[in-house]
Amino acid sequence: MKKFMETCYKCNTNVKIFKCIKEGIELNCLKCPKCGEEYFTSSELTKFDILTGRRKMVRKFGVLGDSTVIRFPPNVVKHYGIKPGDFGIFEEVPEGILIKPLPAKELKR
Ligand SMILES: [Zn+2]
Repeated sequence: MKKFMETCYKCNTNVKIFKCIKEGIELNCLKCPKCGEEYFTSSELTKFDILTGRRKMVRKFGVLGDSTVIRFPPNVVKHYGIKPGDFGIFEEVPEGILIKPLPAKELKR
């Protein structure tokens, strides 16, 4: 883990790399030895949210035959009006993968 900050925002003491236990889940953090303040990176907090089931917009990759599949959250399907037979266009973006829905009816000639 990288030390993303040097000193505690509260008391200005040098922070140390630490294994914090937050609600029973071990996370990497920086901890202030003086006041006990803990600092987390956003990826550690995302890990925490997933493990505690707080993140609703996360799905696990699975396998179906030779394919890797992922289930869509129902509210996303509803919001975008995605129907069986529609297409999803994958685009690489700096943050990861963007899926653009394309309704099958738009492809009809
Ligand atoms: Zn402190």
